[in-house]
Amino acid sequence: MREAEYEPVIGLEVHAQLLTRSKIYCDCPATFGAEPNTQVCPVCLGLPGALPVLNREAVSMALLMGLATKCTISPVSVFARKNYFYPDCPKNYQISMYDRPLCANGYIDIETDGETRRIRIERIHLEDDAGKLIHGEGGVSLVDFNRCGVPLIEIVTEPDIHSPAEAYVFLTNLRRLVRYLGICDGNMEEGSIRCDVNVSIRPVGSGTLGTRTEIKNLNSFKAVEAGIGTELERQERVLRSGGRIHQVTNLWDASKKRLIMMRTKEEAHDYRYFSEPDLPPLVVDRSWIDGVRERLPELPGERERRFIDQYHLSAYDAGVLCAERGVADYYEGVVSDVGEPKAASNWVMREVLEELKNPGSSIGEFPVKPEALAVLIRLVMDGMVSGTAGREVFKEMLRSGEGAPTVVERLGLRQVSEGDELEAAIDRVLDENPKEVERYRTGTTKLFAFFVGQVMKETGGKANPRVVSEILKVKLGD
Ligand SMILES: [Zn+2]
Repeated sequence: MREAEYEPVIGLEVHAQLLTRSKIYCDCPATFGAEPNTQVCPVCLGLPGALPVLNREAVSMALLMGLATKCTISPVSVFARKNYFYPDCPKNYQISMYDRPLCANGYIDIETDGETRRIRIERIHLEDDAGKLIHGEGGVSLVDFNRCGVPLIEIVTEPDIHSPAEAYVFLTNLRRLVRYLGICDGNMEEGSIRCDVNVSIRPVGSGTLGTRTEIKNLNSFKAVEAGIGTELERQERVLRSGGRIHQVTNLWDASKKRLIMMRTKEEAHDYRYFSEPDLPPLVVDRSWIDGVRERLPELPGERERRFIDQYHLSAYDAGVLCAERGVADYYEGVVSDVGEPKAASNWVMREVLEELKNPGSSIGEFPVKPEALAVLIRLVMDGMVSGTAGREVFKEMLRSGEGAPTVVERLGLRQVSEGDELEAAIDRVLDENPKEVERYRTGTTKLFAFFVGQVMKETGGKANPRVVSEILKVKLGD
């Protein structure tokens, strides 16, 4: 008998830190990177008697995410206490949402292997972040409470993901979306996005779910992919040898690329959830939702499809240009000035994105504005500047902040395409290479490229190759 084939069933729980100015239940700043324990107050420190007040903007940002993922928005949602003890949580509970979340039943469509897959979102709810433990030398641990109370949305997917690669693509899409919406910076190194994973396997065709395990401590999307792959292999090994999967939580050890079993997984009832007595139910009316809807930008997936239709770009180019909202805006700024969607995409993808790789540079503060790049592209398209010289002009524009025409004149990069100067250069090349001219005339026609190259060299790359070819043909008697 053939061995059973197994199918992975994967669900994700993603936490995204919201970019509000202040925390979710108090008015301490929510910014990252301050001196430890300087952004705290009785509320976020959980001192007795302190009362939380909900941050309206945090709710609006969660609604924005809910609308962008086509969720149903609950008119009334309820905050709940999730009780647990851990040194990074001074209140000994988290104020989260339990059975009545803010948003539910949405989805995100992703593309894998040229196929569109719909990953359903079970729920999106609001909660407060915990502090941060810093494990130091000699077994001493320090705690920084600045992060306590920073607003989070938790996005929980249905178990619709069926491979590690799909999980990776989903997370990349999710990160792009929160950045487009401007609600999270998506910075994994600073922990702005964190992801826990639930993994199980079942025989292909089976309708029931296998026992699932959880993976935590996944600090990059690549770690998510690797951690899931490792756990899937382990579960398959266990089942094939006749064993059983136990419901456990594993920690991913990124340096050793392996899983460490942390504990048997807790169940919801371990947290003793109950409605938060210090916050009233959250009521979101129609006008609030309509106000948030007006803030919804064109979503990245829709924009990508429009770029393909409207500008006739390849799916690859559209994907690269739409990866970041600022870059897509920049590109459209260039196109609206110069037309030429394909040339504009080449310039943005090669020159602009290359420059953006430098640390500290950002599209928002890019020194060459879209209008200025449009002028340069026009000069190249009209043959005033060669493509190679154009790139040099661009670098100089970056450095000096001057416009393209000024740089072209100052550096003498105007393309030589007519007149005595070019003819003289061609004559010099022919005079200096009499043997090659003879061989060309007696049939070695592949030498044509050699003459063009020599003329380009003679003119310092400023000649228009098309014009050079035409004149050469005449002079060589073709
Ligand atoms: Zn506070």
